[in-house]
Amino acid sequence: MKQVHIIGGGLAGSECAWQLAKRGYNVKIYEMRGVEKTAVHKTDKLAELVCSNSFRGTDESRNAVANLHRELRQLDSLIMKSADTNAVPAGGALAMDRELFADQITQTLTQMPNVEIIRGEVTELPQTDEPIIVATGPLTSSKLAAEIEKLTGKERISFFDAVAPIVDASTIDMSKAWFQSRYDKGEGTDYLNCPMTKEQYYSFINAIKEAEQAQAHNPEDAEVPYFEACLPIEVMIERGDETLRFGPLKPVGLTCPHMDEKPYAVVQLRKENKLGTMYNMVGFQTRMKWGDQKRIFATIPGLEEAEIVRFGVLHKNTFINSPELLNADLTLKGHANIRFAGQVSGVEGYVESTAMGCLAGLITAAELAGESFVLPPNTTMLGALITHITGGADAKTFQPMNVNFSLLPPMLEVHKKQRKEAYCARAQESFKAWLTENNMLIKTEEVA
Ligand SMILES: Cc1cc2nc3c(=O)[nH]c(=O)nc-3n(C[C@H](O)[C@H](O)[C@H](O)COP(=O)(O)OP(=O)(O)OC[C@H]3O[C@@H](n4cnc5c(N)ncnc54)[C@H](O)[C@@H]3O)c2cc1C
Repeated sequence: MKQVHIIGGGLAGSECAWQLAKRGYNVKIYEMRGVEKTAVHKTDKLAELVCSNSFRGTDESRNAVANLHRELRQLDSLIMKSADTNAVPAGGALAMDRELFADQITQTLTQMPNVEIIRGEVTELPQTDEPIIVATGPLTSSKLAAEIEKLTGKERISFFDAVAPIVDASTIDMSKAWFQSRYDKGEGTDYLNCPMTKEQYYSFINAIKEAEQAQAHNPEDAEVPYFEACLPIEVMIERGDETLRFGPLKPVGLTCPHMDEKPYAVVQLRKENKLGTMYNMVGFQTRMKWGDQKRIFATIPGLEEAEIVRFGVLHKNTFINSPELLNADLTLKGHANIRFAGQVSGVEGYVESTAMGCLAGLITAAELAGESFVLPPNTTMLGALITHITGGADAKTFQPMNVNFSLLPPMLEVHKKQRKEAYCARAQESFKAWLTENNMLIKTEEVA
């Protein structure tokens, strides 16, 4: 019987193993916990949740992640099954008892006769033509990270990252912001600019000084120096109130069409994806707590109502530059038997990592059966995520991404107030059509 090697028994690896094993394939899961530790995991259980115990919102009528839950459930996801079985009351969120959640997944996979769990750190990938799925997550061990660097030809895939927030372009107030590149360079309109008066600038700086900052999970992480070119804004402000104004917020080479006087400072945002639905706040790497980011960034003229689709964060993260390195079927370019899944493949979050594990499993299963696999369309949450990491995102500024509506083809014809519902309704319709056209449900049940 055909054999698949899955490196990493986290959320992505466990989901991937389940999708393959239930279709009759032999799976080896290589998991180092139990022998080696990570800086954050506490147990040796498969699919341990490292931080919060929440899969976020449940409102399928207007919430992107809830629709990802739904799509995964329709694909008979083990992770979703365990989340639902072990759910605890959490208002509008899907939260679970993390011990019972991981126990159920560990037991299910351990009891499957065609799943073997091998404990120990993988330091190089198995020398085989059989399918390999790398799902070692944000805390991939450094030896394996070095191997992946060699394989991909990249100098570095682990970062102590200070990531800038990304906002939904359709929520920026264009009566205050404007398009212009500094000195009209490039296309002349590559940046979105938000002007600040002197008063607004100083109250912004003071608010940041008073904001609460997230602490490093691993004490060693606190010692790691920042890249000088990628300093968190808090660190820049520690060097002086005017540092930002002479750095990323300098008001030169720009003419604001909405103000008579020259702005005292200008916040610039740059396109994050090809669709132009998301913009990255240039130079705004931050370790402020999310609530403070939301409150303080809403004081920037033009961003009062802006929806932050990815908050700035500071943590160790290991991921490949997937838009550059992966094919549409998650295989590494030039290595037809190696796939990446989970957070290391360039998504962010528990559910998103599960989603990529699920797709990697389904695609590999189809390949082993000699069938072609049609990806879900980019109007669905699964389709939008895989499209984003395998080419939709700009490889130059690529950062792992949570599922959100800006990943979907825009529906600007629908009024802003009804847009979330419209995205959800379209995703539901197109996922249903994809399941039917590709006989997905029948296949799942036939082999269960
Ligand atoms: C500090 C921190 C906090 C986070 N908080 C949240 C949160 O609150 N909510 C959220 O949605 N997401 C959070 N994330 C992101 C979250 O961890 C990931 O999205 C999710 O766990 C990724 O799933 P995964 O399967 O890709 O990786 P993981 O779940 O991390 O699984 C990877 C597995 O690979 C194993 N492994 C690594 N290297 C090797 C090796 N060389 N050999 C064998 N095994 C190996 C690891 O032990 C691990 O079990 C957080 C991440 C970090 C680092």
